[in-house]
Amino acid sequence: MSKKTQNPETLLLHAGHRADPTTGSVAVPIYQTTSYQFKSTEHAANLFSLSELGNIYTRIMNPTCDVLEQRITALEGGAAALAVSSGQAASAISIQNIAKVGDNIVSSTDLYGGTWNLFNNTLKDQGIEVRFVDPSDPANFKRATDTKTRAYYAETLPNPKLNVFPISEVAKIGRELGIPLIMDNTAAPILCRPFEHGAAVIVYSTTKYIGGHGTSIGGLLVDGGNFPWQDYAERQPALNQPDPSYHGAIWVKAVEPIGPVAYIIKARTTLLRDLGSAFSPFNAFQVIQGLETLPLRMREHCSNAQKVADFLSKHASVINVIYPGIQHGAHKTNADQYLSGGYGGLVGFELDGGKASGQKFIDALELFYHVANIGDTRSLAIHPASTTHSQLSPDEQLSTGVSEGYVRLSIGIEHIDDIIADLDQALNKSV
Ligand code: PLP
Repeated sequence: MSKKTQNPETLLLHAGHRADPTTGSVAVPIYQTTSYQFKSTEHAANLFSLSELGNIYTRIMNPTCDVLEQRITALEGGAAALAVSSGQAASAISIQNIAKVGDNIVSSTDLYGGTWNLFNNTLKDQGIEVRFVDPSDPANFKRATDTKTRAYYAETLPNPKLNVFPISEVAKIGRELGIPLIMDNTAAPILCRPFEHGAAVIVYSTTKYIGGHGTSIGGLLVDGGNFPWQDYAERQPALNQPDPSYHGAIWVKAVEPIGPVAYIIKARTTLLRDLGSAFSPFNAFQVIQGLETLPLRMREHCSNAQKVADFLSKHASVINVIYPGIQHGAHKTNADQYLSGGYGGLVGFELDGGKASGQKFIDALELFYHVANIGDTRSLAIHPASTTHSQLSPDEQLSTGVSEGYVRLSIGIEHIDDIIADLDQALNKSV
């Protein structure tokens, strides 16, 4: 069976590693080393000039991280990947890799609060403007574009609104203008395959479903190898003009012998080198364990979340339930077009009694953990207005979909009867 025809369940167990060539170890070894012995001065020079690929220093590459990178590349059908220290680092690097002072990107308003802060404050301070647009009309991306626009950015399944992003519509607009669509697929691994819909780069926080067990912070960038950077020399100068930080390399040309990996090689050899947001080999090992069961876990997260959404919809003290599986109209159409195998593990709802009820509900939970996280095997709950979205102004909170009484659930893989029993008893105490 060729790799191309293998399914996620198989790829995530076998891609990138069969057995350690030195020891025969079947489990992926943790290469806990900072540096690598060069075979000769010529070998060292070749590695530094990129005429030969190999290990130099763990800030830039590591064999354990390499297996993780190869597995996620195989899963997504991309060209290559880069593991970095967190999802936040992945988001920042995804933009900094192609946008400089004076440039801009256009982003969906529907974003994780941390990404919103990164875009609205830190990137702005660094001279990169982020233009936020309402994703419900894909043409908004085109309207906000000018000659300095280097990328479009969005999340597949952004919480709290949980409106699935119109990936192919926006990717198509971008491709006509030489602008890549970068998709944060953190909330929908396995369920959504952004490259099949025209995205050029995928960003993940592996901290969530991919790691899955709540043990390790991490991030990934995956290069689809499907974007013609070389055809847009003016639009994409970072990959088409000589890079003074790498002896004048023109990235689209420098990678020609290797493949269509200009974007990811530049990110590794310049930004990871300079910013140092390296992924630890130990965390890579943990995340590899998570990847092995990701398809199984996603099935269970989705099945449980659908049942929770159905239960909440019938509960007297709940005024609104947000879950892609029970949406109507354009949002449901998008959910059906871009997600397959389920509608994800996140469920939002609003309680009749607003903020006070929301807080009482959270305090009454016994099985659910009250944490600022999603995508764990365990069920989690949070009140975003007072936590994850508290650094945003009230207007900004509302524009991202957070009302005072909104509660976000990340449904785990416990038995569904136990999940519903806990929700039921906490709801009864919230009135
Ligand atoms: N993207 C999304 C959709 C997230 O939910 C998060 C974190 O919650 C991040 C990115 C940032 O990831 P990390 O916490 O690993 O830095």
